[in-house]
Amino acid sequence: MTIDRSSIPPRPVRRVVIAGGGTAGWMAAAAISKVLGQRLDITLIESDEIGTVGVGEATIPTLLNFHSLLEINEQEFMAATQATFKLGISFENWRAVGADYIHSFGMTGVDHWTAGFQHFWHKGRERELAGAYGDYCLELKAAQLNRFAHLPKNGMNYAYHLDASRYARFLRKFAEGYGVRRVEAKIDAVRRDPASGDITALQLDSVSSIEADLFIDCTGFRALLIGQAMGQPYQDWSHWLFADSAIAVQTAATRPAVPYTRSIAHGAGWQWQIPLQERVGNGIVFASTYVDDAAAEATLMANIGGAVLTTPRVIRFKPGQRARTWAGNCVALGLASGFLEPIESTSIHLIQRGIVRLMQMFPTDGIFQTDIDEYNRQTAAEIEHIRDFIILHYHVTERRDTPFWRACASLDLPPSLRQRIDLFADSGRVFRAPNELFAENSWIQVMLGQGIHPRQHHPSADLMGDEELRAFLDNIRGGVERTVAQLPGHQDYVERYCGAPAPPASR
Ligand code: FAD
Repeated sequence: MTIDRSSIPPRPVRRVVIAGGGTAGWMAAAAISKVLGQRLDITLIESDEIGTVGVGEATIPTLLNFHSLLEINEQEFMAATQATFKLGISFENWRAVGADYIHSFGMTGVDHWTAGFQHFWHKGRERELAGAYGDYCLELKAAQLNRFAHLPKNGMNYAYHLDASRYARFLRKFAEGYGVRRVEAKIDAVRRDPASGDITALQLDSVSSIEADLFIDCTGFRALLIGQAMGQPYQDWSHWLFADSAIAVQTAATRPAVPYTRSIAHGAGWQWQIPLQERVGNGIVFASTYVDDAAAEATLMANIGGAVLTTPRVIRFKPGQRARTWAGNCVALGLASGFLEPIESTSIHLIQRGIVRLMQMFPTDGIFQTDIDEYNRQTAAEIEHIRDFIILHYHVTERRDTPFWRACASLDLPPSLRQRIDLFADSGRVFRAPNELFAENSWIQVMLGQGIHPRQHHPSADLMGDEELRAFLDNIRGGVERTVAQLPGHQDYVERYCGAPAPPASR
């Protein structure tokens, strides 16, 4: 039901209810209470009986911005969440079985104003003057050699691997410090105003009900408010993204933590390995049309090391996005708003973007349809861009060894992605539109890594003679090598910087 709000008198927002206490719920509670806690009455409802999805442990560098807004101390956060540093993702067996590449968070080489570094590198390869594309990226080389340190002037781009349950607890403490009230209860029903369609209250199993002016749906895949109550339709993208299931399991760490996520492709999906300080998060993402749960679990368990700490758990999902993530007086964040598989660790980022956008348009003096429409327009553009980037990994590959990979190779691409791939293949060019998450260098690393070789380079690269080009490339590569050689090992650095406190001795 969509209602024209122009006929509804705007009502100030003073009471906010956040339904759900997973990563989305507590991130929202932390940010809103920090910024607007003095003006709002904020309540978060979560159910211990239902619990959280319990996965979501790899992040991207934008999380540092979120923590900076919240003035979170990095060492405290990392110690509390068993976090390690992440410099990128190692994609193994994606282009072909046995072929690996890293999508790192860094810049590669040095751009010219007319042409990106890839054009100079491309000419260097043709003239046999250039090494691998990654040789010109500090973060990528540091990842390969398992090294890490903070560098002056934010000289190292990084993110974190973290324990999702501990992160929610860390944010809960933070948010409660800013006055958020937590209610442990199960939401039994959602009450709506028949005239406006707005939500008026959530009925709890504890017999009481909670009223509010604005409701934030963080109830995970259940989408109790935005989906079940408000009836907002879900755009299903499974014709582009075939994976619909995951199995997650935790294991004890058996070797020093590497500063990157591993993403290992299999016959009908892929497996993640996320190293934390004392354990490893593992899982397999797969398409149930091509492989059953038992076979997927067998593949996962055959490719993990260390003692198994948890029982393998199957999670089902539908790739896609709710057509409107803000409807009436309800805004959905996290899994309630949609889900794209974690191949590029974008879900926590999307929660963060939703929160920042809501803060920018916070309806203190009343909810206007113009704000709702703009919020939904920006949200849709953002997620469609990420969707395209994810499809790229599956479609551009030489793998044809299983029915799954053959289906991926033959799928009909969204026109926006088709255009991007063709542009790069024809001319080596990549352009980033405002507000797009993935910068040129991300697209280039993945397109080269997945096997696209541009047909030509920009003529600016031809203005350099061989000797000049050799010196240009060697200078960049040499600088990367010298810096990486001075970095400490990642595990040593983590232990010194933010080693998680030992658990209290049992009595
Ligand atoms: P949930 O964690 O499911 O929380 C839902 C909350 O709602 C819970 O507190 C629950 O108790 C409450 N609730 C539900 N129903 C009721 C009710 N009736 N009454 C009261 N409370 C209720 N993201 C990343 O960024 N990086 C990753 O590496 C990554 N990996 C992932 C791997 C998999 C397999 C999956 C499925 C997701 C992954 N994600 C990842 C996404 C990430 O897990 C989620 O975005 C994140 O955990 C947020 O979840 P959530 O808070 O929306 O939902």
